[in-house]
Order: sequence, then structure tokens, then C-alpha cells
Amino acid sequence: MSPVLAEFAGPGQALSLGSPATPELDDGEVWLRVTCTTICGSDRHTYHGRRSTPLPGYLGHEAIGIVEASRRPDAQPGDRVTFSMLVSCGECDRCAAGLGHKCRKVFKYGHENLPWTGTYGSHMRLLKGTELAKLPGDLPDEAAAPINCAFATGIAVADHVVGHRVRVIGGGLVGLATALAVLLAHPAREVEVIEPDTQRQVWAKRLGMKPSTDQPVDCLVECAGVRAALEPAMAGLKIGGRLVLAGLVHPDSALPFTAEALIRNLWTIVGVHNYAPGVLPRAVDLAAEFNRRIPCPEWTRTLPSLDELDTCLAGAPDEALRVAVRFGPDPA
Ligand SMILES: [Zn+2]
Ligand SMILES: [Zn+2]
Repeated sequence: MSPVLAEFAGPGQALSLGSPATPELDDGEVWLRVTCTTICGSDRHTYHGRRSTPLPGYLGHEAIGIVEASRRPDAQPGDRVTFSMLVSCGECDRCAAGLGHKCRKVFKYGHENLPWTGTYGSHMRLLKGTELAKLPGDLPDEAAAPINCAFATGIAVADHVVGHRVRVIGGGLVGLATALAVLLAHPAREVEVIEPDTQRQVWAKRLGMKPSTDQPVDCLVECAGVRAALEPAMAGLKIGGRLVLAGLVHPDSALPFTAEALIRNLWTIVGVHNYAPGVLPRAVDLAAEFNRRIPCPEWTRTLPSLDELDTCLAGAPDEALRVAVRFGPDPA
């Protein structure tokens, strides 16, 4: 079977499968056979035109795969890996400041118009500077595919969490991954998740989270992307508390409090977007622990056929935390 790649011509148009010329690898690059990709909320946003992308585009950024060809010494054919969603130059002022995810030349898989750099296809071209992390053999594909987005973001968000009592708004995969990372960092913490969906509440409990209470918290962590959920939750943030914002990455995100409230309550606010270089290996461990607590057949589902991909992208978010897609032959 020759490699296939889904092309996105623009909002409202179905993805088309094609076989563009496969690239000659440059120094530092890897040719990856994508064994599993998962649909992220940001793919749905791009598909609907709520976030702009150069066209034609190549969507998808959550995936894992097997190295087929490599021009870098730390990747050998046969290696099963995850890769950083972002590629940074390592040389600019922002990279030097530890903000590689805001690199002046940043490249973001699934958001560019360079063929073979989206995960919706059988293969990918991983560019020089992409971080790679090898995967444990017993971690299933479906649980490993979101490592480079949801789980890595969860680690990055959790790194900014302080205090004993923590409340996470949102029980989607980023919220639950964040909550678990917060708990694993300090197991004595009380970590609550605010989530209206009963299935997601059950998952939060199995991960070790407490049901939401009225107790004031030291840290409030926004992972839902829903402005209306933040306003009532602010009433529970202690004087001296910290608000960590990670989910409201869209224009409808005006904060529901005044500077006066911030000043009088001695609050601190931190914004977290994506993740800096170096997070990926910890995200692998987080996904493995998540999957030990809730095996992935319970929180993922696999599309039975590629014919359903457009319907899935166009539709409402799934009940599963992630929908997995396979473009290549099914592993036996
Ligand atoms: Zn994502
Ligand atoms: Zn840079």
C-alpha cells in the first residue's frame, strides 16, 4: 500500500485522501509510519473554520508511530515513538529563555501546509528539532496517541499548580490528565474536578480525584474552555490563591472579575499554552499511569472506518475522551 495522506481544502469541505510525493529526508529528519492518531478538539475547531490554518492543510497532531527511515542518530527503524507537537529552533531569544514553544520559527504539526506533517495519514515527516520519546511496549496505541498534546499539556499545566487543595474545571482529557499530574506530583493533595458529565465524574474518581465541594481552594485550574464555568468557580478561590488558565484559548474568554477583585484577594494568574521542550518523557509516564487506572478501551473508541472521519470531525465532541483513527492496516 502506498502512503496516504488526508488533505484539508477548507472549512465545510470533506478531507480528501491522496498520495503526494513522499519526501527525501533531510539531515535530522524521520519518516514515521503512523500507527494511531486521535482527534483533538483543536482539529474540530480547524475543520469548522473557527481557527485559521494555511490551505491546503494537513490536520492532526496527536499520534504515535514506528520509525521507518531516519536521518538522526537517536531514532532507529522499528522504534515506536511519540513526538513533540511543536518544533523550535533552539537558537532564538525565546528558545534561550526556555520558551521553545513560543520560538520565533515555531513549527506546529497539524497546523501547516507542508505535506506529511499532519497525523491524518499513514505516514509523517518529522522535521529536524522534533523531540522524540520512546514508548513502553505495554502502552496501547490509543492511550499513547494523545501523549504529545493532552498529556504533555497536562504536565505543563500541573507544573504551575500550587497548594494543598486544588480544583480543576473540566473533565475532558486535558483536565483529567492535569488533575492526575497534580496528584502524582504531591499525592497528599486534595484534587477536585468540576465536570457536569456523569461518566467523566466517574473517570475522575477512578483517577483519584475528589468530587467538587464548597471548600475554598488554594489553586483553581481552568481546562474546560468555557467562560461561563469560570465565573462561579472564582468564588471558591482563597485569598492569596492562584488561578491557572489553560483552556480558554479562544476570543470568548474575557475574565469574569475586576482588577480590584484580583488586588484585594491577592490572587496570582498564570497562563499556560502548549508545553516547552523537555516535557515529553514525563507525558509518557503520565499516560501510562492514566491507562493503568482506566484502561483505554473505556475512554477511547476507534473509528470503524475512515469513511466516518468527516462525520466525526464535523459532529459534536464524542462521549469518549478520544476517538482513535487508523489510516494504515490494522495491527493484527
Ligand atoms: Zn491537541
Ligand atoms: Zn527558537
